[in-house]
Amino acid sequence: MVGEAAAAGPGSSRSGAVHRAELDFDESLGHLMELLPEIVYRVRIGAQVRIEYVSPAVESILGYRPEQVMANAEDFVALVHREDQAAALSAAEGEPTTVRFRHANGTWVALECRTRVQPLGDGEALLVGVAVDVTSLRRGEAALKHQAEHDGLTGLANRAKFVSRLGEALTRDPGGVAVLFLDLDRFKKINDSLGHGVGDTLLCEVAGRLNSSLRPHDLLARFGGDEFTVLLTELVGEADAVAVAERLREGLAAPVELDGRIMPVSVSIGVAYSSGGTNSEDLVRFADAAMARAKEAGRNQVHVFDDALHAELNERLELENALRAAAHQGGIFPVFQTEHDLATGAIVGAEVLMRWRRPDGEVVHPGQFLAAAEEMGLLASLDRQLRERALVEVGRLHAASGLPGEFVVRMNLSAGDFLESVRPSVWQDLLADTGVPASMVCLEITEGSLGLDVEELAACVAELRAVGLKVAVDDFGTGYSSLAYLEALPISDVKIDRRFVQRLGVPGPGRAVVRSIVALCQALGLAVVAEGVESELERSALLDLGVTHGQGYLFGRPVETHELEAALGRVALAQPVERDRPDGR
Ligand code: C2E
Ligand code: CA
Ligand code: CA
Repeated sequence: MVGEAAAAGPGSSRSGAVHRAELDFDESLGHLMELLPEIVYRVRIGAQVRIEYVSPAVESILGYRPEQVMANAEDFVALVHREDQAAALSAAEGEPTTVRFRHANGTWVALECRTRVQPLGDGEALLVGVAVDVTSLRRGEAALKHQAEHDGLTGLANRAKFVSRLGEALTRDPGGVAVLFLDLDRFKKINDSLGHGVGDTLLCEVAGRLNSSLRPHDLLARFGGDEFTVLLTELVGEADAVAVAERLREGLAAPVELDGRIMPVSVSIGVAYSSGGTNSEDLVRFADAAMARAKEAGRNQVHVFDDALHAELNERLELENALRAAAHQGGIFPVFQTEHDLATGAIVGAEVLMRWRRPDGEVVHPGQFLAAAEEMGLLASLDRQLRERALVEVGRLHAASGLPGEFVVRMNLSAGDFLESVRPSVWQDLLADTGVPASMVCLEITEGSLGLDVEELAACVAELRAVGLKVAVDDFGTGYSSLAYLEALPISDVKIDRRFVQRLGVPGPGRAVVRSIVALCQALGLAVVAEGVESELERSALLDLGVTHGQGYLFGRPVETHELEAALGRVALAQPVERDRPDGR
């Protein structure tokens, strides 16, 4: 070792003057070298390595005195970390290269070396350089890197590290890779009822159990919240991944003691296997979708991403893209379904219903896209388009005196976009712009939006009524509206759901139900409208029960504005209008 060799080597420790003389350095330059905190060195490389000069900083940094180093060059070079030896030799001229050295006390020191090489001929070269101790800097960097890649609670890899490792795995070997997406069942409930501390304990316990069921080279990550992901590589087929997923699910099955209680734990797992050609983002998305399926199927199970689910995802993606375009470029338009006086058939109003015309001309009904639009946050924009277009059309008909007196336009308010669409200023502006009197407009709210706090809802409704608008409860009888609820809301109308209307034609308590709704509304001073009137029988039954207004296929299907205009023009006051034909005439 250097130490022993140095003990037998020349000179005492206080021999700086000797080196300077030997090297024939300019005196002041020599002093400077001794003051520098960095190690300055000059090495001759040939058949042998000779360290011709090394500045005294080598002692404070590496624990060896300069003369020990110079006397035992070969031993000294052997102190370079094995992994860094190639880098140390091939260091490009002037490029900083980090090289680890073993300190005399046995620890590793990271030196950042900058070197200049001067070829001397005959395969010899002179190397001069300067080395800076960057150990603590590197340690700090490593700690930062660890922090950036790990989850603070469980110590597992985090999402960023998982995604980057998945990308590397797919580049290295695009087949035989699988992602498992795990989501704890009912975690939110535990977190909400027992507190975040208990939730954290559970997450750590789960992380530990999962880890113990995995092989060392599988990567387990906390993806976020109560979601974990596992990266599996070198698989032979999908069945391997499914087997690991099952093992993880079973490994979690034992109940956990939390806060003194024994709690069951379970997890839903989605498996996405890549046999090649899938990118990391998609693989995670696929596993996530499969996990959602496992939840839908009743939790605590494994679901594998397959072609059917792939087709569904693509369809949904296509729907989302098309809806986004519709929300920004238009494509939403109103149709109108007329409302009639049940006794005379006269048109007394119309309900505005939303339609979407896709670029290929296909017309889509709200049942097929409203839920997606709501999830995507596009509902407000679609509703706004519809409101504006519908009221522009109605305003035009009104200005041309094309509407009967007392005509009411009914418009649906979505529960999902409720607070935005009940802002009185929205309606005031729209009415002013389109010239439609407030008294002609009735907003329909469903019992779904009644899920709001009664007082809040009552306040919203009161504000709308103050603008002069009517407000109705739609689909009445399908939700949980209590008498007290109806009494608390300053609404003007109730629309009886079509399911009750349908039951009028069949034996059973249908008539009694409608009769009691009518009695209730009369007691509260509310107007009653029926929807979904399809037959003559239903019409006469409703009339018998005291319902005077209704809409439905008996009178007409929803139609576009020009057809509404035509229907208004030809309406016979005494008879129900003819049923709309498919060609709209
Ligand atoms: P809703 O408000 O209860 O609308 C009545 C639905 O029943 C309409 O379907 C209408 O075409 C249909 N219908 C009308 N007459 C009959 C009939 O005699 N028999 C039967 N079986 N059905 C009849 P649509 O247009 O597909 O709308 C479905 C639902 O979508 C609506 O139910 C409403 O909840 C929602 N919706 C429609 N337009 C809008 C809108 O502009 N905004 C919002 N937020 N929701 C809307
Ligand atoms: Ca409605
Ligand atoms: Ca309805």
